[in-house]
Amino acid sequence: MTKDPEFCFACGAGLTRDDIGMYRKAVNRSAEECLCLDCLAKKYNTTRAFFEEKIEMLKSRGCSLFF
Ligand SMILES: [Zn+2]
Repeated sequence: MTKDPEFCFACGAGLTRDDIGMYRKAVNRSAEECLCLDCLAKKYNTTRAFFEEKIEMLKSRGCSLFF
């Protein structure tokens, strides 16, 4: 079981379960350092809304990274 990080390693923002789940889904399933949605969006040159939509979709499918 990997440890959940508390803060974004780029900007220091507090991380939610969703931020962590999305980072692990997008970057590395067992990441112990994660980015908040804003920094993740920057990294992929997209918007926070893009990931928020993805999170809702993954949750509706019961993705284990979000529960
Ligand atoms: Zn951040």
